[in-house]
Amino acid sequence: MPLQFNPALKDMPVYQPGRPIEEVAREVGLSAADIIKLASNENPLGPSPLAIAAMSKVLGQLHLYPDGNAFHLKAKLAGKLGLEPTNIILGNGSNEIIEFVGHALMTPGVDVVVSDYCFAVYPIVTRLFGANLISVPALELGHDIPAMLRAITPQTRVVFVANPNNPTGTLASREHVVRLINDVPDHVLLVMDEAYIEFLNDTVDLVPFVRQARPNLLLMRTFSKIYGLAGLRLGYGLGAPGLIAAFEKVRQPFNINALIQAGALAALDDDTHLKMTRKNNSAGLHFFESSFRRLRLAYVPSSANFMLVKVGDGSRVFAELQKLGVITRPMAGYRLPEWLRISMGTPAENVRCLDALCSVLGMETK
Ligand SMILES: *Cc1c(COP(=O)(O)O)cnc(C)c1O
Repeated sequence: MPLQFNPALKDMPVYQPGRPIEEVAREVGLSAADIIKLASNENPLGPSPLAIAAMSKVLGQLHLYPDGNAFHLKAKLAGKLGLEPTNIILGNGSNEIIEFVGHALMTPGVDVVVSDYCFAVYPIVTRLFGANLISVPALELGHDIPAMLRAITPQTRVVFVANPNNPTGTLASREHVVRLINDVPDHVLLVMDEAYIEFLNDTVDLVPFVRQARPNLLLMRTFSKIYGLAGLRLGYGLGAPGLIAAFEKVRQPFNINALIQAGALAALDDDTHLKMTRKNNSAGLHFFESSFRRLRLAYVPSSANFMLVKVGDGSRVFAELQKLGVITRPMAGYRLPEWLRISMGTPAENVRCLDALCSVLGMETK
């Protein structure tokens, strides 16, 4: 008898990440130095210099296992957020925390509610655990939160909302988010994925709801985006101690490596790097918005560090841009085949990307 794989694997899509620079370089015959990657919402300014310095100091200790409980990092995050270490779960990227949610709450036959055009990892994890994915139609590509509340049934165990959302960059209103938190029934875990929260100027701070110990609310954040540490994989979840204790049972002992524990501690103190990144990002959004308006290309106004633009045949434009050394993200996998997602780069990278896009679309840049 052949291997009997988990039946959930049969129709499971494989996550398609942004393509690595080296891989594209080999494929299109350019040198890696001539390629820019605006495909994975990384920080174009690089990691915090304070984080790099702190990490280089621990290299000589890498023969030791990391602190499995990440004492200093949890204490620092707790202090910064006005929470306790027992409110914090750390993951190997916030992707791993999504998987903890699956282990802790998803079994075959239960429902998980998401929005159309949600972050790709929610459906993957939902299917992996044999749960049913209930995808609620979007409103102008954003989450329809009242409709998501209406989609909740006695079988629902989890609702995922990324705010701002990836890949659309849309932001749900303060009123809708507060209503969602207040109206979500007790048997449903509400996961608010705040991967891009640090890019917002003005938002609802949901940490006070965690302080009130709402038993069924989880906030997720990451060091991969504004902190520029995607390569070392660190995300965190914030919730009531009872919820966090459940996740601790499904977490592998040493999921957070020693380098990132040191790097994240230092990055949390690097306000300069954070401010420069925010400023670079707003300038990028402004540049692409004004350029797309001038070129009469449809785009989705973004609250994050990337933007969706409508280019016609997204897969073709993606492939042509790649030949010019510009890696973007095609959106067919998200059922948005006419759109491309472009991450904000440095000013020079943004200009290069726009020039390449104009050349592929046969438009004048100026
Ligand atoms: C990038 C992203 C994450 C996860 O990032 P990690 O690198 O795993 O921390 C989670 N949610 C959303 C919506 C994202 O865009």
